[in-house]
Amino acid sequence: MAVGQERSADALILGGGPAGSTAAALLAGAGVETLIVEGDPFPRFHVGESLLPHTLPLLDRLGVHQTVRDLPHTQRKDGASFVTHDGSKHVAYWFEDGFPPAIPHAYQVRRDEFDDALLANARRCGARVLGGWRATAPRWDGKRLVGLTVRDPDGREQFIRSRVLLDASGQSSFLASRMGWRFPYPMHRKAAAVSHFRGVWLPPGREAGNITIALTDQGWFWLIPFADGTVSVGAVLDVERWRALGSAPEDVFAAAVEATPEVARRLAGAAPLLPFAAIQNFSYRVMQVGGDGYCLVGDAAGFLDPVFSTGVFLATTTAAAAAQDVIEALARHGRVDAADLAPTTALTRSLQRLFFSFIRAYYDPHFLAFFFSPSGALEIPAAIVSLLAADVLRPGRWRRTSRYRALLALARAQRWSVRLGRPLVEPLAAGPASRA
Ligand SMILES: Cc1cc2nc3c(=O)[nH]c(=O)nc-3n(C[C@H](O)[C@H](O)[C@H](O)COP(=O)(O)OP(=O)(O)OC[C@H]3O[C@@H](n4cnc5c(N)ncnc54)[C@H](O)[C@@H]3O)c2cc1C
Repeated sequence: MAVGQERSADALILGGGPAGSTAAALLAGAGVETLIVEGDPFPRFHVGESLLPHTLPLLDRLGVHQTVRDLPHTQRKDGASFVTHDGSKHVAYWFEDGFPPAIPHAYQVRRDEFDDALLANARRCGARVLGGWRATAPRWDGKRLVGLTVRDPDGREQFIRSRVLLDASGQSSFLASRMGWRFPYPMHRKAAAVSHFRGVWLPPGREAGNITIALTDQGWFWLIPFADGTVSVGAVLDVERWRALGSAPEDVFAAAVEATPEVARRLAGAAPLLPFAAIQNFSYRVMQVGGDGYCLVGDAAGFLDPVFSTGVFLATTTAAAAAQDVIEALARHGRVDAADLAPTTALTRSLQRLFFSFIRAYYDPHFLAFFFSPSGALEIPAAIVSLLAADVLRPGRWRRTSRYRALLALARAQRWSVRLGRPLVEPLAAGPASRA
């Protein structure tokens, strides 16, 4: 492999997904020399199509809110709906019912369009993009990361020196994989089969724009509608269940639909528009998310489960925080140390703790019994909506999450009351239970 000339950038961003593009736009906009290395040709298919309301202020800050709203497939989303496998129980949470002032809507987006728009915005802000270039190895000077070896589209390798690397490489978690910092969650092993469909039944009225999460045995489905009436449908299953149903994603998907009357009803007469994609090994923790000369943002810093659509919010929020730390550190002393990144790493860990606990609760049937029968007591519905909207950044988070913790306590009480034969609320007949 020929070794070409050396390049350099003050901020090197690995990955042009939502995390990488967000960080790059903010850094370049602040005058930092910024270079994105993105391996895939854009636009490209990606899962992660349902956004949360509290992602919108950042889209405003990036100046892309209107662009995103005007993309051909963008669908306004006013809430999130949940339904049991047979349709016997259903609940819709509306974002306008969160703790005030609520952001009353978000969007469903096709990620080929959304990611392309964010990357174009990063370019407009002054970031350079090496499209079709792939990082192959990090380079260290002691414990400081000093750059990446990359391969260009013709297969030539060269070194890019950086003052800081923001690793926004998504699920591949480039740095953590190579450094042995990425560990799967052994009790939360899921796989997803996904395609886009035409002809899916949608609920009437404004609920038609909602994401719907439908329970199934050892898993759940998402149904995410787009503006042209097409719908992204994915089945997320325990890997054991996946293996019991088949191996090819289209076979597993079909068998899971057949076992889920509510989804079968909605998909009767629907036709897939894309080959099915299988997405596996997507639940992992990352032990090290920042150090001298580097920071991991978005999925590269860890991922558990997509049930509450928190991924793009986490990706863009952690990327924006990292960009801010980098801008301040470079202005202060011309380099970026681990200590400079402490605000970002603390934010990343605290958001992961909160959302991961919410996700784990979803796999507890006793929690779900309350989730499907929200009473107005203790402001619990508003607390659930605030979490579903990712209203976790503004002051007053303690009050909002304390209501959520009350719900966790009720779920524990429900467990005991079921054992005693006197449940507090009616238990669910079937659920997505896992041992997460
Ligand atoms: C089944 C499933 C469903 C989901 N549904 C939702 C949802 O509805 N809503 C939601 O908000 N989130 C959802 N998510 C999560 C969401 O997809 C991610 O959180 C989000 O895409 C993370 O953005 P990112 O920028 O960190 O990574 P990505 O969007 O994955 O971008 C990473 C980029 O890095 C590039 N890259 C990687 N390695 C290299 C390399 N070595 N060299 C060069 N380039 C490289 C990749 O090509 C890619 O473009 C879902 C996740 C899964 C698994």
